[in-house]
Amino acid sequence: MPQPNHPKQPEKKNRVGSAMRMAAFWILIVILGLTALASFSTPAADAAEEKDLTEILAFARDEKLEEIIVRGNELIVTPREGTDLPRMISMKDPSSSLNEQGFASIIEDGQVRIRIEEPSSIWDNVFDIALILVPTILIIGFFVYMMRQAQSMNNQSMGFGKSKARLYGNDKKKITFKDVAGNEAAKQDLTEIVDFLKKPKKYEALGAKIPRGVLLAGDPGTGKTLMARAVAGEAGVPFFSISGSEFAEMFVGVGASRVRDLFNKAKKNSPSIIFIDEIDAVAHKRDARGGSGREDEQTLNQILVEMDGFDNETGVIVMAATNRVDMLDKALLRPGRFDRHVNVVLPERKDRLEILQLHFKGKPVDENVDLKALAAKTAGSSGADLANIANEAAITAAREGHKTISNADLTEAFERVAIGPERKSKVMTDEERKITAYHEAGHAVVGHVLPDSDPVHKVTIIPRGHTGGVTWFLPEEDRSYKNIYELKDVLARAMGGRMAEKIIFGDDGITTGASSDLKHVSQLAREMVTEEGMGGRTRNQVFNTSEVNFFGDRAKAYSEKTSEVIDTEIETLTRESTKRAELVLKVNQKYLDELAAALLEKETLEEKEVRDILKGTTLPPTAKLH
Ligand code: ADP
Ligand code: MG
Ligand code: ZN
Repeated sequence: MPQPNHPKQPEKKNRVGSAMRMAAFWILIVILGLTALASFSTPAADAAEEKDLTEILAFARDEKLEEIIVRGNELIVTPREGTDLPRMISMKDPSSSLNEQGFASIIEDGQVRIRIEEPSSIWDNVFDIALILVPTILIIGFFVYMMRQAQSMNNQSMGFGKSKARLYGNDKKKITFKDVAGNEAAKQDLTEIVDFLKKPKKYEALGAKIPRGVLLAGDPGTGKTLMARAVAGEAGVPFFSISGSEFAEMFVGVGASRVRDLFNKAKKNSPSIIFIDEIDAVAHKRDARGGSGREDEQTLNQILVEMDGFDNETGVIVMAATNRVDMLDKALLRPGRFDRHVNVVLPERKDRLEILQLHFKGKPVDENVDLKALAAKTAGSSGADLANIANEAAITAAREGHKTISNADLTEAFERVAIGPERKSKVMTDEERKITAYHEAGHAVVGHVLPDSDPVHKVTIIPRGHTGGVTWFLPEEDRSYKNIYELKDVLARAMGGRMAEKIIFGDDGITTGASSDLKHVSQLAREMVTEEGMGGRTRNQVFNTSEVNFFGDRAKAYSEKTSEVIDTEIETLTRESTKRAELVLKVNQKYLDELAAALLEKETLEEKEVRDILKGTTLPPTAKLH
């Protein structure tokens, strides 16, 4: 993204002793089921049709909805009268950024009444708590007792350990490497795995050890899950998938038995792939969380036991994905386990273009739609972000009544995904508009004048998301490195907003509008000093603050004295950037005034308009760094 300066269960029959005990057991399960029903469901959720969140959002935008009740991860949707839509429910998928964004936009647009309900409001009432809690505890206690009994009889307990793993076979659309844009290196690494799965004999004949575990590591939304499915699709083998977070919801002992079941199924269907998504949910460092989760530990141990039990003819490859390799238990990464690592990375510009092209395929777009330009300004976006932009663009076009998707729809979708929806309806007083105009103009002037800053791409005082206005800077190229001058210019231009307020309205005129700028400055300055060795006195020294020690605390690998030095260095960087911003603005105040005036009149200024207004600005020698 450009940097906006204002972001915001087995079928074995259980032979438990007597028939009496069996009956008691089932009765208990029924009671437990009823208790759960009584406490967690209300009539609203009954007879509702399950819908995709995207559909719900589209209905919301078309103003067809009356009310959305948010209960935990569930949305219960009541349509407006006369729309002949059914009642609907939908699950919010916590891993998808679209959902958050899209959802936030309904709230902001205020088209739908939103009611947040506690998943169980019953808890409000003490009597009710006792009424439910006491029997529940008794029942769960008995339940656990029964499970233990059943387990000690070397029996899997009545289907509860049955794996919920889904099998993606021929019924689902087959995904191959063609559906994954970019990430050539990762695909290359995985081609070998595909070959193992396709021709295991070839490798066996040569006595080659077939890999057992492949760990896909990368930022959220970079396409790890997609990539794992593509491997299965390429190899044409069954794909058994389960998510680490699903284990978290299970009863004692169930996680481990699910793992057993999952591996048994995969072995029966070999060659095959087992995919454990979000493995960090069960495989976090055992010590790092102070003994939490015996259950997780059992699940993890079972995974390790199963993998250790593979021999060269097993023909099952276990893939796992995580965004947090640093959080994983080391036992998982040992040879013979997840010893192959494949990094899935954020897409570069040409990969972003490919991803956009993939996701716009089949969508009607204007002839002059410029995906290249969009690819250029989305540096730092993940594949999921881009897919999200494509979807938002289609939704925007539909809402605006367009037949095809235009460049304006793209821009709106991009900004919506990056920051949030425009809030044209938000009422700003004249005074607030004026302050915002000067604030944004301040960012723009400082960014324009300083030589190592990215050019200003756009300035606007239309509120969007949680911001009053935005100044966008557009990096000209994707680059992996930034030098110290560029970073210092980033600090200074971020201070430009607050400094403009100060110059124009005085020390007492400064506002809370700069809080996210200030946060950005202090975070970046800290990173420069502690991680990049860019402190003045501490040049080339780094200070590790992210290592988690045995007790799960962040270990400080330096003394109190060093800590003070670090604080001083951060302060120096902050003060220097404040000073540079102020110098630039004072020398160019005439342009600051002109830009602010233009913003008040037009609200949004594009790159060229900004450049025209700021043509005559000068860089004061005292603000020069080199
Ligand atoms: P992760 O598992 O890394 O969080 P996902 O595989 O769930 O990411 O990606 C989410 C969605 O984003 C995918 O379903 C796909 O639509 C899109 N996406 C992500 N990366 C790519 C890519 N490289 N090529 C095409 N689409 C992608
Ligand atoms: Mg995923
Ligand atoms: Zn700002």
